[in-house]
Amino acid sequence: MTDMVPAKLVKIVVCPICHGGLRFNADLTKLRCTGCDKRFRVQDEIPVLLAQETE
Ligand SMILES: [Zn+2]
Repeated sequence: MTDMVPAKLVKIVVCPICHGGLRFNADLTKLRCTGCDKRFRVQDEIPVLLAQETE
């Protein structure tokens, strides 16, 4: 059940830097921006969408 949360969130969240779309990686631990290719952590199923948290 809880694994559905990120799938729903990802439809409404966008990259804080370029406002591009975000896609989960294969094991759902990271989000990658399809626009600027920044990567964001997903902590406790909540994407950490902070510009200073990019990898
Ligand atoms: Zn971006």
